[in-house]
Amino acid sequence: MTALISLRGVQKYYGTYHALRGIDLDIKAGEFFSLLGPSGCGKTTLLRTIAGFEGLSDGTLKIDGKDMSGVPANLRPTNMVFQSYAIFPHLSVAENVAFGLRKSSMSKKEKSAAVKEALDMVGLGGFGGRASHALSGGQRQRVALARALILKPKVLLLDEPLSALDKKMREQMQVELIRLQRQVGITFILVTHDQEEALVMSDRIAVMFEGEIGQMDDPETLYRAPNSRRVAEFIGKMNFLTGVVTTDGGTVSVDVAGLGRAELPASQVPQGTVPGKVSIGIRPETLAILFDGETTQRRVVDATVSEVVYYGDMTYYDVRIAGVESALTISMKNLIGRPVLDVGAKTKVIWDERSLVLLPA
Ligand code: ATP
Repeated sequence: MTALISLRGVQKYYGTYHALRGIDLDIKAGEFFSLLGPSGCGKTTLLRTIAGFEGLSDGTLKIDGKDMSGVPANLRPTNMVFQSYAIFPHLSVAENVAFGLRKSSMSKKEKSAAVKEALDMVGLGGFGGRASHALSGGQRQRVALARALILKPKVLLLDEPLSALDKKMREQMQVELIRLQRQVGITFILVTHDQEEALVMSDRIAVMFEGEIGQMDDPETLYRAPNSRRVAEFIGKMNFLTGVVTTDGGTVSVDVAGLGRAELPASQVPQGTVPGKVSIGIRPETLAILFDGETTQRRVVDATVSEVVYYGDMTYYDVRIAGVESALTISMKNLIGRPVLDVGAKTKVIWDERSLVLLPA
């Protein structure tokens, strides 16, 4: 597999500030790839170096096999959609989209056909004559997309494109962006600080911290098998416990403080696991409350409810367990006939060795 975009040892300094600290990255043609991380981790800087708006301090960037050093942004096979959309309010929707073609040698007729195609693609067919200043946030976003897509770039770079939209609109646009990306087959690189957005949309995600990539994987692997505590903390909710690993031949066991001892299935044992202290992650949805009248074959431990947060479809419980340092969070579906427990309720918590995520201590 040859990568469409390939970065090796990329470093970026702003004066003395070290913004990118050795980025190695291969992005495949047709991939929906996300750069995810907290504010200031360098994801926008990385996107801008791919676009050609920032130079590299060191390392190499190749797109489609060609070294990009010295190649200006407008000569790269990339196009960027900005957070602010940069829609010209005095131009119509069609004129805004056609702006992308201003340097093209297409005839007027070809241009107007291309504009129509781009507007149809983003669900704005028939909106060409509209005034741009009267558009909703979601419509402006679509115009910006159409303007970027009309140039048929190999790579579309998206810098937090949905962050200005309300929650409902954002969720709708996420689904539409995925559909659009599959339809046009262009490689999308999305910058976002919203982990849910990255999980929903991406084929693969690079999680960045302080100028470095902490982990790069498909969404399911990232969620199920984070390789460090900071990745585990950044993606979804995670409880952390302490434990001690022991090995005996091929079997790896872990003694989890407050819960007990369990033999780990091979799939739960990260490479390079050695005996000794570990940090253990447990997702809230992989624990469960054992409600009165229910039974289980799985392991249970006594607990006391210390906090209850009701979400309608779900309830999040914090519970205290003897020997566990901090409260554990458990998410439960509010099924028919299942009560919502009160703070102070004595209950039992079900746990399973398959949900233990071993992390470096
Ligand atoms: P955010 O989500 O807040 O946009 P980010 O992960 O995209 O964050 P960047 O915008 O890439 O982060 O910035 C990374 C670091 O580099 C930040 O500390 C920022 O202040 C710094 N930085 C970015 N651009 C410049 C610049 N032109 N000059 C100096 N420092 C900069």
